[in-house]
Amino acid sequence: MGWSPIEKSFKNWLVKPNLQDYEEARRTFSWSTIDDELKGTLAGLNIADIALARHAKSDRADQTALRFLAKDWSIKDFTYRELNAQTNRFANVLKTLGVAKGDSVFVLAGRIPALYIAALGTLKNGSVFCPLFSAFGPEPIYQRMNRGDATVLVTTAALYQQKVAALRDRLPKLQHILLADIEDHLEAGIWSLPKLMQAAADDCAIAPTQPEEMALLHFTSGTTGMPKGAIHVHKAVYAHYMTAKYVLDLHPDDIFWCTADPGWVTGTSYGIIAPLTHGVTSIIDEAEFDADRWYRILETQKVTVWYTAPTAIRRLMRLDIDLKTQYDLSHLRLVHSVGEPLNPEAVVWGQEKLGLPIHDNWWQTETGGIMIANYATMPIRPGSMGRPIPGVEAAIVRRHEDGTIEQITQPGMDGDLALKPDFPSIFRGYLHDEERYRKCFVGDWYITGDLAMRDQDGYFWFVGREDDIIKTSGHMVGPFEVESALMEHPAVAEAGVIGKPNPMIGELVKAFVALKPGQEPSEALKLELLGFARQKLGAAVAPKELEFQESLPKTRSGKIMRRLLKARELGLPEGDLSTLETG
Ligand code: AMP
Repeated sequence: MGWSPIEKSFKNWLVKPNLQDYEEARRTFSWSTIDDELKGTLAGLNIADIALARHAKSDRADQTALRFLAKDWSIKDFTYRELNAQTNRFANVLKTLGVAKGDSVFVLAGRIPALYIAALGTLKNGSVFCPLFSAFGPEPIYQRMNRGDATVLVTTAALYQQKVAALRDRLPKLQHILLADIEDHLEAGIWSLPKLMQAAADDCAIAPTQPEEMALLHFTSGTTGMPKGAIHVHKAVYAHYMTAKYVLDLHPDDIFWCTADPGWVTGTSYGIIAPLTHGVTSIIDEAEFDADRWYRILETQKVTVWYTAPTAIRRLMRLDIDLKTQYDLSHLRLVHSVGEPLNPEAVVWGQEKLGLPIHDNWWQTETGGIMIANYATMPIRPGSMGRPIPGVEAAIVRRHEDGTIEQITQPGMDGDLALKPDFPSIFRGYLHDEERYRKCFVGDWYITGDLAMRDQDGYFWFVGREDDIIKTSGHMVGPFEVESALMEHPAVAEAGVIGKPNPMIGELVKAFVALKPGQEPSEALKLELLGFARQKLGAAVAPKELEFQESLPKTRSGKIMRRLLKARELGLPEGDLSTLETG
């Protein structure tokens, strides 16, 4: 707080915002209005029908749905009609291979067309789509595919060789590998996807689907255990559609660019599904972040609505390019951000450099879609995540030891950020982990794991995580997963992993390691351990810093006290040490 609010003016708006009056919308909105808007187009309720098939039958059929920019700037467009036909083919490929409703189809790839086609084709077949981050190393891939009962994997030849080939014996349920970039089948079970697609018919009836059938599986990190697979159902598309309308403010002629990697939930909910539900054109850049490239994309593609993340915005801010003289960004109408706290400076930077403030919003894997947001028409309080979307009740609560829960109505008090779990995109379970799922709900509330506070006007402010989860470059990393990988090295006796605040990437993964007797700390061993972890976990998850300690602080029950490691690292008060094991 302490920053002046950014007021909005409608005078220069060429497009009338979908949400005119937030207060009014909160009073009157009901999810049944989304039913009404989408009804009459449904074959049951399948995400792929709402996102794609219905447009392919409408006057939007020849509108570009997805525009891929390759690293060399070449362009490949898919209209709604073409994307519909391609995804039909993919669904037919699955049928031919005997892949059934409910089977999991994993995709490990960068932003290539095969990923998007596989995602929507999988949904058409009634199977479950599960994306994997292409920067994961073999171990995170194994953990997720094993837990998620992967039947099919779509990937590239290089990613398969580097990261999956050695895991195959450990994945007995994995029946089919579809390689997106080879011309001929390698062997039974390792197929050329282009060849299978060529042989498949391009029409297909979408599997009759019920709203509560499982559609998406998104893995998210846990603090005490291995990753959890959050289950989402087809009805989640109501929330994707609704938030794209009222938060992102998509209109039929928009050019939308979501920069999230498809390996994470934002990359699916808003990088694939939500813009398609509105029939707009999405830009997909196959390259990684580069400031000049990004500004050129905004300029040349005439992007109107841009959804990005704080780490990227901070990188752009650091370069301090004079945007007004170097690029024509006049088409840009709205900028949104998600994934980690957005500094107030970034909101104001947007206002000054882009002429548009950055609209922060908050949600998480479990909520499937945006929950708290800043809206086109509502003044922004820089540093605040905004206010709950119409149709969702959010509160700050305090849990008591006797299992009861109390809603904190007094403004300005920290507590658990909680949501009433009665909106369409709330997760329906953690796969094979009923107990962890149940623990997320107390009384009438879903407890998000975040700490926040609400001000007197109903704006929510992020305070921190309640657990030890690390957010690095906007991506969740579970310390347990990193510790487990380090512990596999023969020299390591104990490992404790924390997120160390970093001005650019939010948090940096730092490991503390105690060695086995007879092992001596050295620079060479440090580098070896960092390399070992990187090999197993991949660059996105592996620690960037490592420090040796004689022994790690533990509770009397033997749990490593990551909080204490963190407090000591940052020179903060050590807090309650009553459970610390001594001697
Ligand atoms: P994920 O499930 O990977 O999408 O991560 C969700 C978590 O990221 C949330 O529970 C928050 O801890 C954090 N997060 C997401 N958006 C924001 C935001 N706008 N401000 C602060 N933290 C955020």
